[in-house]
Amino acid sequence: MSKPQYVLAIDNGTTSTRAIVFDHAGSKCGTGQLETTQIFPKSGWVEHDPREIWTNTVKVIELALKEAGLDAADIAAVGITNQRETTVMWDKSTGIPVYNAIVWQDTRTQSIIDEVAEQGLSVPNVNRFKDKTGLPLATYFAASKIVWILNNVPGARERAETGELAFGTIDTWLLWNLTGGINGGKHITDVTNASRTLLMNLETLSWDEELLDAFQIPRELLPTIASSSEIYGTSVSPLLGVPVSGILGDQQAATFGQAAFESGEAKNTYGTGNFLIFNTGEEIVHSQNGLLTTVAYKLGDGQAHYALEGSIAVTGSLIQWLRDNLGIISSASEVETLALSVPDNGGAYFVPAFSGLFAPHWRPDARGAIVGLTRFVNKAHIARAALEAVAFQTREVLDATNADTGVALTEVRVDGGMIANELLMQFQADLLGVPVIRPVVAETTALGAAYAAGLAVGFWANTDELRGLWQEEKRWLPQIDDEERAKLLRVWNKAVEKSLNWIDEDSVQL
Ligand code: ADP
Repeated sequence: MSKPQYVLAIDNGTTSTRAIVFDHAGSKCGTGQLETTQIFPKSGWVEHDPREIWTNTVKVIELALKEAGLDAADIAAVGITNQRETTVMWDKSTGIPVYNAIVWQDTRTQSIIDEVAEQGLSVPNVNRFKDKTGLPLATYFAASKIVWILNNVPGARERAETGELAFGTIDTWLLWNLTGGINGGKHITDVTNASRTLLMNLETLSWDEELLDAFQIPRELLPTIASSSEIYGTSVSPLLGVPVSGILGDQQAATFGQAAFESGEAKNTYGTGNFLIFNTGEEIVHSQNGLLTTVAYKLGDGQAHYALEGSIAVTGSLIQWLRDNLGIISSASEVETLALSVPDNGGAYFVPAFSGLFAPHWRPDARGAIVGLTRFVNKAHIARAALEAVAFQTREVLDATNADTGVALTEVRVDGGMIANELLMQFQADLLGVPVIRPVVAETTALGAAYAAGLAVGFWANTDELRGLWQEEKRWLPQIDDEERAKLLRVWNKAVEKSLNWIDEDSVQL
């Protein structure tokens, strides 16, 4: 029998699960995709059904194989990439989750975070574990979600202590099921996902006793932490006999898919929110400017590579807001046509601080503001201001990155749904003052997971070979001078000022 010529990536995002088959050149050969049901039991609560995610995963694998005209025997390896931080807990003997998956956006655990920030301290400190984990104490990460399940599902804590239950992020849940579930499924996560739990020490890359104590999380619950590229186990149907050999959290996978393997390389993803990841190589860089520190990847026994991450909450979702809440466009792509119908923003600036401002400000007291309005401003100017806001926020995160690393980025590789927008890409290049580059394969997240899996089985030889596969599709060069850029940024900063200090005892949050 000839050697299998393809690698399959499973990409579980927040809104859907996809499977994509790639060939040796890194080109797409088949795709399957199914939406995930979003469950909102209460304000601020966001859940997924882990069983739906698993059954959808099986279906999308079958769809992708069918579209590519292949079967399991043609697949050399399977990789997994996933929405990060989303937390699942299940019974190891039945495979049944004890509760729905608590999604990364869920904020129900604020009181758990507050307690840990206060423990034994005269002044609460959300940064008390930042040196160890690279993260502030926040509901975003997995630890407080685990605690919530242990405290609120009857019997969960006792069953966790006796080793009956397993915790995992979605990568772990999928791997356990793919490798046999109750019949010997592997209970493993990779370093990138573990680095988003608030429980892993960035230096030792292992679960940390002090952190487990602070959150009162039993060690027995936790998966083994493995590298991002090694054979974790062998898949059951529908990929019977295929090695499962790559795991990366979604933003890290996009970085890998963009071939940003080395220190000083970066990518920026424009999706629901924006995530800029700057590879700092083998060095752990602690941000002084509002960025997170995270693991970028670790290949087998190799050294871990680290990254700084700038997370922006509202970018693509602002375009959805123009469509769904204002109704001034009927599809996301229409925003470009509308914005192009005017030559500039007409003086309007839009700060989309819908849930406060994330990186680099971290200001929960901020709220959305449209400023500079006159009788002249119309909906096209608002559309333009919305697109510009995406680029301005990215500029802020890039400035924070440059300040933290002392290295000025010389170009930015982009991916995600919004990069179809050429007006945005040009304005982004103008504001950054460096080229913005779009790759041929826009599905860099799935591609990164495929790369990690393929490397582990020798399908690809090394990262140099992968670097050779990366292909530029288009680049935008800055077209304004420094003076013009400085003016734009100064006005944007004024607009940001206007959005701050909004939430107080009188402006009650609805
Ligand atoms: P995610 O992975 O977070 O679900 P995607 O990378 O699929 O996001 O990108 C989807 C986002 O991109 C949506 O929020 C949508 O509003 C936005 N988007 C899609 N096409 C365009 C466009 N042509 N112009 C501006 N925004 C767009």
